[in-house]
Amino acid sequence: MVTKKQIVKELKRNIQQSYAMELEDATPQEIFYSLGKTIKAIYNQDWQKTWKDYIIEEQKQVYYFSIEFLPGKMLKSNLLNLGLLEIVREALNDYNIDLEDVAAVEKDMALGNGGLGRLASCFMDSLASCGLPGNGNGIRYDYGLFKQQFVDGYQVELPDEWLQDGNVWEIRRESKAVNVHYGGKVYMEKQANGQLKPIYENEIVLKAVPYDTGMVGYQNGIVNTMRLWGVEIPVSQEGKYRTIEERRVFEDLTAVLYPDDSNETGRLIRLAQEYFFVSAGIQSIIRYYRKLNRPWHDLSEKVAIHINDTHPALCVPELMRILLDECDLNWELAWDLTVKVMSYTNHTILAEALEKWPIYLLERVVPRMYQIIQEIDRRYVLSMQNIHPNDLIERTRIIQGEYVHMANLAIIGSHSTNGVAKLHSDLLKSVVLHDFYIIYPERFNNKTNGIAQRRWLQIANEELSQVLDETIGKTWRKDPADLKLLINYQDDEAVLKRLFEAKKTKKIALAQYVEETTGIVINPEAIFDVQIKRLHAYKRQLLNLLHIIKLYLDLLENPKLDIEPRVFIFGAKAAPSYTYAKSIIKVINEVAQLINHDERIQDKLKIVFLANYNVTLAEIIIPAADVSEQISLASKEASGTSNMKLMLNGAITIATLDGANVEIRDAVGDDNIDIFGLTEAEVYAYYENKNYSSNQIYENDPVIKRILDTLIDGTIPNIGKEGREIFDSLILYNDEYFLLRDFNSYCEAQTKIDLAYKDRKRWEKISLINIANAGHFSADTTVKQYAEDIWQIEPLFARKRK
Ligand SMILES: *Cc1c(COP(=O)(O)O)cnc(C)c1O
Repeated sequence: MVTKKQIVKELKRNIQQSYAMELEDATPQEIFYSLGKTIKAIYNQDWQKTWKDYIIEEQKQVYYFSIEFLPGKMLKSNLLNLGLLEIVREALNDYNIDLEDVAAVEKDMALGNGGLGRLASCFMDSLASCGLPGNGNGIRYDYGLFKQQFVDGYQVELPDEWLQDGNVWEIRRESKAVNVHYGGKVYMEKQANGQLKPIYENEIVLKAVPYDTGMVGYQNGIVNTMRLWGVEIPVSQEGKYRTIEERRVFEDLTAVLYPDDSNETGRLIRLAQEYFFVSAGIQSIIRYYRKLNRPWHDLSEKVAIHINDTHPALCVPELMRILLDECDLNWELAWDLTVKVMSYTNHTILAEALEKWPIYLLERVVPRMYQIIQEIDRRYVLSMQNIHPNDLIERTRIIQGEYVHMANLAIIGSHSTNGVAKLHSDLLKSVVLHDFYIIYPERFNNKTNGIAQRRWLQIANEELSQVLDETIGKTWRKDPADLKLLINYQDDEAVLKRLFEAKKTKKIALAQYVEETTGIVINPEAIFDVQIKRLHAYKRQLLNLLHIIKLYLDLLENPKLDIEPRVFIFGAKAAPSYTYAKSIIKVINEVAQLINHDERIQDKLKIVFLANYNVTLAEIIIPAADVSEQISLASKEASGTSNMKLMLNGAITIATLDGANVEIRDAVGDDNIDIFGLTEAEVYAYYENKNYSSNQIYENDPVIKRILDTLIDGTIPNIGKEGREIFDSLILYNDEYFLLRDFNSYCEAQTKIDLAYKDRKRWEKISLINIANAGHFSADTTVKQYAEDIWQIEPLFARKRK
């Protein structure tokens, strides 16, 4: 066990060594870096022991390939998981240093856009905490997701220089670097033994260098590895690229998270990125497997590779390439092993997000990959002939017309395809991937997403955590299912009061943050109504806004209207090239400006749009939320995870029956969630019958007409262009996400929220019931299901103990 004294001693030594100064003279930045080094030194022994044990035990390991990871800040998470949070807090206190000030200087590791990357990071935390042998594999971007600012209500994107002050958690492993090959010409040549070998001409060779970060398990001595690859120019190639400009082209490969794919160069870089971390990752896995000295046919007993969304789908042809070209396996064995090793998660049914690459680009960037994909496709068609009708085979081919379909590649090349919530997985089987479901019914399964309760409750909400400790004991910290114990206190007024007070404390803290960052003063007694997620038309932030405009108009008409004061809180980034989403940001900001300054409504409404939504901001907002807005059009949100984080913190969900909202309803019961809107079946019926007309609703519903007209009649200042664009999307282009159809149902649900909040006792009870049932959505549970059903991996030493 590490003592406070030892930590202080090491911290002081590190500050001395790095900065030549005393702890008392150091800035929070200097203390953070030195404390990070101290902490890393503490878990390094466990880290070393963990990977050695995996080798000695020959544990089967999973490698989670994801183009995004979104861990956020790691200091407090590492301290919590090491069981050192309180000791370190006290140690710093002795020197009048507040741990919060030190933790705050850490830059968010934001190598992801939103839910997808955050899920990958929750899984990393859970794999380690469950003692499961799981590794992350991704890209070390020099710049993370852009920093968002608002200027005149518009989103402005600034570069996220997260590495500026160095990254204390990573270890650069030069000795584990591998080369990745691009471009040129590849042709096959017969060897003396009759085998075909690819010969490469004029290719480009880049060096992939791994940066490893320890993923510390929750108080179990396990530390797994997240390996992120950075690009460099190999020494052998340096003569080739003499000028800085020439070098820059290649060194930019891992520069940014999401190259602008509205132009050819951006698309080319994105494809090169995908191959980069795939090839580097698989080479290092095979290098490791070779060290085990086992026969090739055992590969799938020792290695599982997970394809998180389609971006790493090249894992399939890359493993084939290595097994064929470098390990001399025959096609049949290589293919059999590849399918057994690979598994794939689908994250979306939105057509525009199902990746496909033009053939000419693949031929140019990764020619050998394209050759292998062609052969996989050819053999796929052959193997299905006489079993399935030709049109079905054609619809499921990997290569269709000018394109390579990455989801098809991932499904055909793996043994498991899963969706991320029951509803989503059912839709995959019945609609989106129905053709594949006919061919491979046994490959389809569901794994509902989950969240790391450690970060989203223990770290983000210490106040609530303490109430839980004192009410139901501490076992929930290790086993979130034990949150269920709270249900016994649903009528205990003392407990309800304490929960309410914990919430109030967090609301006051958020109000303070809001005032500091925006100047807007909000009332902690008001309902805090929260919608935080990427800005996307299908998530329908606009529906939320239309309801706000309605409340505003109602209040102007009747200032005595008896509604609970409400603060609507938004956090959302729009993709830089997504102009429609940016227009919605502008309009929300202008409506906020208008309403927040209108004294006639006496602070009954406030709108706060906090800039730069990220993991850290989520940790500030979520504990303070009363209402969780999960209002996507039914069938469009694959799962959602902010819905889970918010319920865990006692927010009450207003939701459509979409994604995991359905399972949240099943967990808490109809009385403890506020459901509205079309069902997925009703949405599909509209598609089928093609009988939706937003214009008809607009013309026949005077309330809706009046609200929409504010977008174009000058009621809301400064939105000439954007107001028109949004109005047109709803009326001229027939409201793709059925906002007008769901509007009245949404308003009724909102009225219910208002009434429920007036009955404070009932509200508190609903809140408690939500917390009590949130253990259901632990990422620990989810990764255990992946481990058992898909990856067939076991916790360290599980076999020995049995
Ligand atoms: C949880 C989380 C998300 C995902 O939110 P959804 O509402 O599920 O889309 C996105 N970004 C951040 C920073 C998160 O923490």
